[in-house]
Amino acid sequence: MSSAESVYGGFDTDVTIVGGGLNGLSMALALASADFKVALVDALDPQEALAAGIDGRVFAIAFASCRMFEALGLWDALKADAQPINDIMVTDGTVRGGASPLFLHFDHREIGDEPLGHLMESGHMRRVLTKAVMAAPNIDFRAPAKVVDQASDAYGFTVTLEDGATIRAPVALASDGRGSRLRKWAGIKTVGWSYDQIGIVTTVEHEDDHEGIAQEFFLPSGPFAILPMTGRRASLVWTEKTRAAKAILALSPERFMEELRARFGDYLGAIKTAGPVWSYPLDLKLARDYIAPRLALIGDAAHGIHPIAGQGLNMGLRDVAMMAQVLTDAARLGEDIGSALVLERYQLARRFDNTFNSLAMDGLNRLFSNDIAPVRLARDLGLGLVNRFGPARRFFMRQAGGDVGDLPRLLKGEGL
Ligand SMILES: Cc1cc2nc3c(=O)[nH]c(=O)nc-3n(C[C@H](O)[C@H](O)[C@H](O)COP(=O)(O)OP(=O)(O)OC[C@H]3O[C@@H](n4cnc5c(N)ncnc54)[C@H](O)[C@@H]3O)c2cc1C
Repeated sequence: MSSAESVYGGFDTDVTIVGGGLNGLSMALALASADFKVALVDALDPQEALAAGIDGRVFAIAFASCRMFEALGLWDALKADAQPINDIMVTDGTVRGGASPLFLHFDHREIGDEPLGHLMESGHMRRVLTKAVMAAPNIDFRAPAKVVDQASDAYGFTVTLEDGATIRAPVALASDGRGSRLRKWAGIKTVGWSYDQIGIVTTVEHEDDHEGIAQEFFLPSGPFAILPMTGRRASLVWTEKTRAAKAILALSPERFMEELRARFGDYLGAIKTAGPVWSYPLDLKLARDYIAPRLALIGDAAHGIHPIAGQGLNMGLRDVAMMAQVLTDAARLGEDIGSALVLERYQLARRFDNTFNSLAMDGLNRLFSNDIAPVRLARDLGLGLVNRFGPARRFFMRQAGGDVGDLPRLLKGEGL
């Protein structure tokens, strides 16, 4: 792409990205693949990101997102520790009453040969992407470094780091997470609410093979997801009301395992703990606008959602793919990549899709996280109906795989 000096005189780089979580790292690598000069700033020390154990989560990565990683040459390293998701079983029930007889079964063979997605440990993804960023000659990776101020004018966007250094570019992308400071400084309002729920995350080892089957068990207090990992291991996302979650987190390890077993059941034989316990308070936070002068939001900075169907990061990766395409096409046409006209194309392409998905996840959580008898009956019938109706089943599988609508090139597995 154009060099900053030749086309955008007075700039330090083509694009500044603030926030080097999984979305910011992917964004930098996508833009670097199209020869943009990128400055990526993250508050976290990369040595911490490279060390094991900064995040206990395991992410369900949709197959369209996997295709993007393949197009960026990252898939071989990522798949070394990725568990294919062959099937997903969805059931409704109560803790000691067990599952309702009606269920929903998604079998990947119904829509093709590819698995429905892959499960990958957050720490593994962060290590692979961080190493790739460090090795990329056109990415100026500033970490640990915190952005403490920002300013925009008619031509560019300048961020100021804690040590007083500044970075100026025609456009900046905020991928600084749910609590985005850049969003706030730009005056972009959010809408949302707390779910009064906490996601308890831990890993267990089990006796029998999981066969790549993910389980989503809807309990009255919230979903209990069993996500298959490589080997005979599974990651749990166990959602409880805040008060109950705090009580569970305060239990002794033995009592904690007892409560866990009461929900997990014995369908995979004996289970034992295989990692620390993590907790994540759950809320919804949607940005009203995705753009401000010379700035655009991506990932959780634009949309922090409930993890009920493992869609949050996948939505962010769709932002990445679309933003990379919009900026690449604009630069090829000789447009000003930070102009409102160009950034508006990104907002138009992503805001509706993200809002629709976020509210769908919100609705699912409300529908399933309660124990009201008529609602329970209606949702059980709904699960049973979708399970019997092939086109509906296939629709939901394609949605979960992110293979719907007008996909940007990276999500089709093509280069920029
Ligand atoms: C329990 C749970 C399970 C989930 N499971 C799934 C799943 O299965 N699949 C899925 O798709 N999604 C899932 N998600 C959602 C997913 O975790 C998020 O969508 C994703 O991690 C967001 O990444 P991000 O890069 O946008 O933000 P973050 O990961 O929050 O990264 C933000 C980065 O910005 C940096 N930063 C912040 N402020 C500054 C500053 N001022 N200067 C410099 N750097 C700064 C931080 O250091 C950080 O590295 C789950 C979420 C939860 C809570």
